[in-house]
Amino acid sequence: CGNGLLTFLLVSEGYSGLGIDMRHRRSWSLFGSSLYLELLIDPHSSTLHNLIISNQYNLLIGNHSDELTPWLPVLASQCFCDVFLLPCCFFDFSGKKFITNNHNNTTQYEQYLNYIEKIANILDFNIRKDKLRIPSTKNICFILHGKKLEDRSNDSIHTRLFNQFGIDINHEHADPQISNHRSSLIKSKPEFYSIKFSIIHFLFEYILNHNKSLTLSTAYDILPNEFCEQLKSEHGGLKSVILSYRHALNFDPKTKLITLTNPQLNSITLKQKQSSKQCFKTKPCFFYAFHPNSCPLTDEQCAFSHIIKK
Ligand SMILES: [Zn+2]
Repeated sequence: CGNGLLTFLLVSEGYSGLGIDMRHRRSWSLFGSSLYLELLIDPHSSTLHNLIISNQYNLLIGNHSDELTPWLPVLASQCFCDVFLLPCCFFDFSGKKFITNNHNNTTQYEQYLNYIEKIANILDFNIRKDKLRIPSTKNICFILHGKKLEDRSNDSIHTRLFNQFGIDINHEHADPQISNHRSSLIKSKPEFYSIKFSIIHFLFEYILNHNKSLTLSTAYDILPNEFCEQLKSEHGGLKSVILSYRHALNFDPKTKLITLTNPQLNSITLKQKQSSKQCFKTKPCFFYAFHPNSCPLTDEQCAFSHIIKK
């Protein structure tokens, strides 16, 4: 992400996306801080996966992504994304320098590009390479398009990388100093948004499968501990999270019971229809995504996005 200019340019061109960097850059406030997220990118983090999937991001851009370079195709595979990757420094999955035993006449840069290409290849991406007109000798980029969605299970990704390189991605870390980073990063806001998504998803499935409404205290009881921990720092607690997902769950102020929302209420209002502003559906429709009967509304009628299906 660097200084964030690329994010700013893409957003200005109408693409919706997010620039992520480990450290906040001063330039961000210039471009609009809401476009960026200060976050340590751990490819294993389910929070990161949820952030990508729940926002329906479909392209990961690794612009001089350093230690993350070999990881981006893996992360993209797991999160159903395509990739733009511009490798610069040579890092392996372990976060250490990439070393090859190959002593032919190729440069280290060429060998590293071959390595990245091999990773993309065994993860079944369609691979294209391009030479960027940038003032750098490391100007080769990859454009990776995922082809076979059905074979992108975690097990299969793990097995392929293990068989090819002897790398166990479940035990490798992009950054060996991961534990030294400030833990305050974990509570950055957009990250909490995706924890909210996971909480709502959990309760949605629970109510659906047990076919009964919940009180707030029962909801706290059934939620996994990690979620309850996160909720302690959220002003208004679980109730406010539920109220911010009215399109999925309904909290009745009289009976104090949580139920599934009536999906008919999620239709686009006349006001939204007549608004001259272009309307982007950014939140996924829970009924379309997770309910066995799907959403009773058509794509056009529903105010929420009908893209992700479980
Ligand atoms: Zn819907």
